[in-house]
Amino acid sequence: MTDYSYVKDQLDEVIQNISLAAQKSGRNPEEIKLVAVTKTFPPEAVMAAYEHGHRSFGENRVQELASKKELLPADIEWHLIGHLQSNKAVKAVGSCKVIHSVDSEELIRRLNRISEGGGGIQSILLEVNVSGEDTKFGIRDDEQLFRCVEVALISPHIKLEGLMTMAPFEAKDGELRKIFSAVRELRSRLEEKFYTRLPELSMGMSSDYFQAIAEGATIVRIGTAIFGKRA
Ligand SMILES: *Cc1c(COP(=O)(O)O)cnc(C)c1O
Repeated sequence: MTDYSYVKDQLDEVIQNISLAAQKSGRNPEEIKLVAVTKTFPPEAVMAAYEHGHRSFGENRVQELASKKELLPADIEWHLIGHLQSNKAVKAVGSCKVIHSVDSEELIRRLNRISEGGGGIQSILLEVNVSGEDTKFGIRDDEQLFRCVEVALISPHIKLEGLMTMAPFEAKDGELRKIFSAVRELRSRLEEKFYTRLPELSMGMSSDYFQAIAEGATIVRIGTAIFGKRA
């Protein structure tokens, strides 16, 4: 069995870096939530972070999330960060605190119906793609985004918390800042247009969370820097 005792040190380092990045941009580190991304890592790796006091974890597949959730302590807050197919929506609603990757009206309507059935309210983020990169999911078109926001706001069992984005892997420092600031500005436009508050900006991964925090990220999703390289 792999020894995951390194996880606590890397977790501490990431938490410290988040704090430094926040201070450098004049922000309060407490405004930034760390979602530790555990995809492909076994429950023992999650437990190493859990025993060190961490409670928020992210997975990109519903099935993997649900099977880990079953084995792990109930006070873990699970975030679904990967693309959600509508046929897996039931499982997602049953197991996730926040679904970060919502990108269609149809999916919002479906999530609303499912949460209504369960009597709950599902928190979601809308995934946007501001770089227009082909390989990524996410809403690219303003009109489509406006319709998604509208549908989310009139859905009584959906709580729209904000936006999520993934920057292209190969983007350099300046480009990253532009992408993240574009998402922040998009959030402000939506808040004005719909007279609503969208407090959360989920952006920043192991390789770009400094830039994301500088541009206002409130949730960072970090895997590799905590758990190591994925197989
Ligand atoms: C895997 C993943 C992450 C974490 O990526 P790292 O580079 O390992 O930090 C963040 N967000 C999403 C959507 C992911 O799928």
